[in-house]
Amino acid sequence: MRRLSDVDWDLVIVGGGITGAGILREAARRNLKAALLEQRDFAWGTSSRSGQLVHGGLRYLTQGHVRLTYQCVRERQNLMQELPGLVDCCDLMMANYRQDGARRYAVHAALLVYDLMSHTRQRHLYSFRKLAETVPGLNQKDLVNGLLFYESITDDARLVLRVLDQAVQDGGIAMNYCRVNDLLTKDGRVCGVRAEDGETGEKHEVRAKQVISATGAWADRLRRRIGGDATKRMRPLRGSHLVFSAERIPITQSMVLTHPVSKRPGFLSLWEGRILAGNTDIDHKGNVDDEAAITPAEVDYLLENIRHHFPDLHITEHDVIASWSGVRPVIDSGAADPSKESRDHAVWNENGLLTVTGGKLTTFRVMALDALKAAQSSLGAIPNLDLSGAIFAPFNRLASIPKGLDRERLRRIEGRYGARATELINAAEDGELEPIQGTHTLWAELRWAAANEAVVHLEDLMLRRSRLGVLLEEGGKAQLPRIRAMCQPLLGWSDARWEQEERDYLGLWRRCYSLPGARADAAA
Ligand SMILES: Cc1cc2nc3c(=O)[nH]c(=O)nc-3n(C[C@H](O)[C@H](O)[C@H](O)COP(=O)(O)OP(=O)(O)OC[C@H]3O[C@@H](n4cnc5c(N)ncnc54)[C@H](O)[C@@H]3O)c2cc1C
Repeated sequence: MRRLSDVDWDLVIVGGGITGAGILREAARRNLKAALLEQRDFAWGTSSRSGQLVHGGLRYLTQGHVRLTYQCVRERQNLMQELPGLVDCCDLMMANYRQDGARRYAVHAALLVYDLMSHTRQRHLYSFRKLAETVPGLNQKDLVNGLLFYESITDDARLVLRVLDQAVQDGGIAMNYCRVNDLLTKDGRVCGVRAEDGETGEKHEVRAKQVISATGAWADRLRRRIGGDATKRMRPLRGSHLVFSAERIPITQSMVLTHPVSKRPGFLSLWEGRILAGNTDIDHKGNVDDEAAITPAEVDYLLENIRHHFPDLHITEHDVIASWSGVRPVIDSGAADPSKESRDHAVWNENGLLTVTGGKLTTFRVMALDALKAAQSSLGAIPNLDLSGAIFAPFNRLASIPKGLDRERLRRIEGRYGARATELINAAEDGELEPIQGTHTLWAELRWAAANEAVVHLEDLMLRRSRLGVLLEEGGKAQLPRIRAMCQPLLGWSDARWEQEERDYLGLWRRCYSLPGARADAAA
């Protein structure tokens, strides 16, 4: 913290989600002196609560957002090429029913445009019979056919960490648990921030030629600190997901299933050895500082879609392993239906405060470069602000598979940890290159995170460095003794601290990552 106020920064970035991480990465590689401050943990906001797709946004194309779709398709292709093991191909089967009417032709046409954009042929029509064979148990009443196409899937929180790590390797500074309370101004223009260490309460003034707010759904809050024309521009929309075991929903590729009532597309995605069901899209009325949690109505909505399409599975609340809710930063255009609001991003310059918000996980580099283009009015010309180069620095991949790993696990580790993969593998103790039962996460990843990845609280380790909190029953409670034996010494926590962290984490899990019914039971 002290070093922060000793330096005159070119850039201070507020917000440690994918948008802030992308800006730090693009600034640091251009030798700008840049620091990022995140009030909670890295990826704590929406960027650990998405649908995990790095996608072209088929829905946006059918709504006429051609530019957004083009950006998404191009960035998806780049990320898949650069980060195998972290951003991987995901087959999506869309089931078409008679009642979908003309919409299914529109989707087919949109997929054609998709292929033209990505210079590939990635759509295959499945007849009724072939679809029924491929997806046993799928509701066949009025089923017409299926369309198989491709997107990609990631672990959003790990993607943020990968981008941040790359930025730090290039000289950027990233601090978690460091909240920006206010803006510093000189002659009416923003020239820095007042920051507070969330753990010690220490306060510092941090000066910068340019402050960029990458605060997602919180964007209006910082804009209001400069007064003037800072009217409300954001429309926070909540989206929730449920997690199931792969045995309970035995599908072999991810599915797009139109909700029987809302007619919105829903997803069943194969993710990290589990099935992810999403998502809702509704106005979020709660305080954005309180962690969002799924409501009973959202649970019913998501279960209704699964029950409608897979009636014989008799899916109930009892099959749910975990849930999560995120608040989408969407720019308010006043549309009556939240799903009709554009997912495009915006950059605003108000009295020297640059705000970049909206957008998608997928388009983080586009947003970062747009932010830096706007920052040139304070920083002077910044060269090469285009999308032509690679997103990540190349690194030497291991020539052979180390003992204890297989090809798939090595791919995972290299995708997630890049140049640090070898160190992570070398640091593993006996048996730690094995996955934790029921997940793809290796024990060695926890050791690495506890020692090297700025873990401040147990929830950071369980929910964002790893995703055990949403992949395992009861938030991974049964694995906590082994995790403790491995990680407590690395974190330097006393027994009392560990026990308090466990209580806090499990309390948070019940409030925000379980189901409303389980929350009520726990409270009783
Ligand atoms: C349900 C759902 C599904 C989605 N699915 C997809 C998908 O499949 N694919 C896709 O591409 N996109 C998807 N998105 C969109 C995507 O997740 C978001 O666009 C993206 O994560 C937003 O990132 P961000 O960095 O702008 O915001 P955030 O990740 O919210 O980061 C903003 C950060 O700013 C911090 N902050 C706020 N105020 C302060 C302050 N005063 N001081 C310091 N820090 C502060 C917050 O703590 C937060 O961590 C989805 C979104 C939702 C909600």
